[in-house]
Amino acid sequence: MARVYNWQIGREMSYWYPENRPQKQFAAVFDTNKCIACQTCTLACKTTWTSGKGQEYMLWNNVETKPYGFYPLAWDLKLLNMLEGQKWSETDYEGQKLHKYEGSTIFESAPAGERVMGWRPEDQDYSYPNVGEDDCSGQVDGGASFSMEHMAWFYYLARICNHCTYPGCLASCPRGSIYKRPEDGIVLVDSGRCRGYQECVKGCPYKKVFFNMMTGTSEKCIACYPKIEMGIQPQCFVNCIGKIRLADSSRHPIKRTRTTRSITFVHIRKVALLLFPQFGLEPNVYYIPPVHVLQAFTSQMFGPGVAEAVKTYRNAPNDPDLSSLLGLFGSTEMIIPRWKRQGDWVAGMDEKGKEVVRVPLKEPIYIRPAYDKLYQISRTNCP
Ligand code: SF4
Ligand code: SF4
Repeated sequence: MARVYNWQIGREMSYWYPENRPQKQFAAVFDTNKCIACQTCTLACKTTWTSGKGQEYMLWNNVETKPYGFYPLAWDLKLLNMLEGQKWSETDYEGQKLHKYEGSTIFESAPAGERVMGWRPEDQDYSYPNVGEDDCSGQVDGGASFSMEHMAWFYYLARICNHCTYPGCLASCPRGSIYKRPEDGIVLVDSGRCRGYQECVKGCPYKKVFFNMMTGTSEKCIACYPKIEMGIQPQCFVNCIGKIRLADSSRHPIKRTRTTRSITFVHIRKVALLLFPQFGLEPNVYYIPPVHVLQAFTSQMFGPGVAEAVKTYRNAPNDPDLSSLLGLFGSTEMIIPRWKRQGDWVAGMDEKGKEVVRVPLKEPIYIRPAYDKLYQISRTNCP
C-alpha cells in the first residue's frame, strides 16, 4: 500500500497505488434541490449505452429517492454499517481550514489479504430499481405547515460513476484492467484484459460497476468520453429536465483560492460537497445538498460541510457570482468551464474564452390578461 493525500478527508491515507493525478479531472455538480426524479437522465443513458444483451439491469445513471431508495438495494447502508466510527475533526492545510476524517476509509479497513473493504450485490439486490420512490421519512400530520428543516422529507439523489481520484474499482482489480485516463481522469474498463472476476463490483462502494453475463466482463459509466472530447456534456447532463447538472473539469481544487472555473468556484464557495467522502475515494461529482432535509442525515451522506453549504446556497440570491453560475446549469449542451457576469446577464464560455451561451440572471415574468381582446378569448388559468 502507498501513502496518498486525500483532500476530501483532510489527511493522508493508504491506497493500493501511488498518487498519480491526471492533468485534468472530469468533474460535475448536481443540484439536488432541482431534481424532479423524472428519470430522463436514466433513460438517456440507457438508450445510448446499455440497451444490449446482458445489460438489461444496468443503470449507469440512476435516480433514487432518499432515505429509502437504493440501487442496488441498501448499497450505502451496507457499507456504512461495515465502516467503524465515522468521526470528523478540523485541520489546517496550507492556510486553509479543512475537515479531517478520523475514521478508516474502505482501503484502510480492508480485511487481511484484500485491497478494499466491500461487498458484492446479488441478483435480488438489483430487482427493485424504484424501491422507496417518493417515500417520505415520516408521517406528514394533517395541517402541518412547511418549515425549514422539515421533519418529514425525501429528496432525489441522481447518481453516476464519480470517476474517483482513488477508485475502489481500479484498486481492487487483480488484472489491472481498470485505468484512469491521464488527460481527463475518466475511469474505464479495458474489456480486452477483463476476465470477469468481479472484484471491481465488490470494490466500488457506489456500486457503479456492473457485470455483463453475456460478455463475461465488467462495464461502467464512461462519462460519454466521445462527447467530452468534442467539448460536449454527457447524455444524462444535456437531457436533464430539471437542469440540475453542470460538467467541467478541475485541477487540484484544494490548492486554489481564486478562479473563474465553474467547478473550482463551486468548490471554493463550499456550496457543493461529495458523496460519502469518508469512503476515501475522492469522488469527483459534487452535490449541492437539499436545503429541507434533517442535517443529521445529509451530514453523514455529504460530510461535515452541509450546514455551511445550505447557508451559502440559500444566500445565492444575494450572491450575484454564485447565482450567475447556478443560472448556467442546463443552459447549453457545450462544456462551459468559464463564465462572466455582465450586468443582468451571464455568459458561459469555452476553454478559449469564446462565448457559447448567454442567459438572463432573472427570468422575466409576463402576466397575461384574463381576457385577451385581440383574440377575444378568456383564459381561465391566469392569476
Ligand atoms: S464510482 Fe465506483 S466505478 Fe466509478 S470510479 Fe469510483 S469506484 Fe470506480
Ligand atoms: S433528468 Fe435531471 S431532473 Fe430528471 S431525474 Fe435526471 S437529474 Fe433529476
